Amino acid sequence: MTGLMQGKRGLIMGLANDKSLAWGIAKQLAEQGAELAFTYQGEALAKRVRPLAEQLGSDTLIECDVSDMDRLDAAFAQLADKWPTIDFVVHAIGFSDKNQLRGRYYDTSLDNFLMTMNISVYSFTAVARRAQAMMPNGGALLTLTYYGSEKVVPHYNVMGVAKSALDTSVQYLAVDLGRDNIRVNAISAGPIKTLAASGIGDFRYILKWNELNSPLKRNVTIDDVGGAGLYLLSDLSSGVTGEIHHVDAGYNVIGMKAEDAPDI
Ligand code: NAD
Repeated sequence: MTGLMQGKRGLIMGLANDKSLAWGIAKQLAEQGAELAFTYQGEALAKRVRPLAEQLGSDTLIECDVSDMDRLDAAFAQLADKWPTIDFVVHAIGFSDKNQLRGRYYDTSLDNFLMTMNISVYSFTAVARRAQAMMPNGGALLTLTYYGSEKVVPHYNVMGVAKSALDTSVQYLAVDLGRDNIRVNAISAGPIKTLAASGIGDFRYILKWNELNSPLKRNVTIDDVGGAGLYLLSDLSSGVTGEIHHVDAGYNVIGMKAEDAPDI
C-alpha cells in the first residue's frame, strides 16, 4: 500500500515534538506521498518542529496561535500563497490551565473555561471555515478527541466538557460542509504520554487503567493513531463523515471490569 496520498496536500496543526499525536499522523501521510505544511505555536517550538518537518520533506512552517483570529487568517493567507488549494487539515490542538486538570471540575474558573473552549473547541470551527475556502474540490478535516467527553475521567475536568463540545462540532461541521464534499471526523485516542497529557493530574493512573481494562490489554501508540488518521484523510474513508472513531484498544466498549482482571 503506497501512494494512497499521492497528489494530496495538507496542513498539520499541533505538532510539538516526536511524541505528538500529530507526528504519528504526519509520518503516515508523508509515507503515502502527501505533501505537508505545518503550523506551530510560538517560536520556542519552532526549533523542535523544523527538523521534524524537514524529515518529512516539508519546508513550510507557519507560526500560528489559534486563539488569535488575525494570526489564523494570516497563517491561511501564507498557506494560500504556497498552495492555492489543499486536500486536508489535521487539528491536533488542545489546551487548559493544568492547575485545573486535577481535583474537581466544579472548581473550574470562568476564565479557564472560556480559554479552554476557545483553544480546544472553537479553533476547530475557525480552522474549518478557513480550510473550506481552500478546498474547492472537497477535502477532509480531522480533529483529536478523548473518551473523557463521553464519561467522567478523573482530573480531565473542563477538558472533558470541551471535548464533548468538540465532538458535537464535528457533527455540525460534517453537515455544514457535506455540500462542499468536505468530510469532518475525529479520532478519539486512548491515553498516550505527550506534552499535553503531562498536564493532566495522575495521568500514569489513567494509562495503567486503560492498559489493564481495554480488550487489547495495551495502550495505543501514535502509530495506531497515525494509521486511523491516514484512513480518515484518504479516499479509503470517502463515505465517512461526522464520525468519532475510537483508537483506544477498545476501551470505550467496556462497561465493567471483569472479575478476573488484575487489581491496579
Ligand atoms: P501535544 O502537546 O504534542 O500537542 C498539543 C498541541 O497543541 C501542541 O503542539 C501545542 O503547541 C498546541 N497548542 C496548544 N495551544 C495552542 C494554541 N493556542 N495555538 C496553537 N496551538 C496550540 O499533545 P497531544 O497529546 O499530541 O495533543 C494533540 C491533541 O490530541 C489534543 O487535542 C489532545 O487533547 C488530543 N488527545 C490526546 C490524547 C493523549 O492521551 N495524549 C488522547 C486523546 C486526544
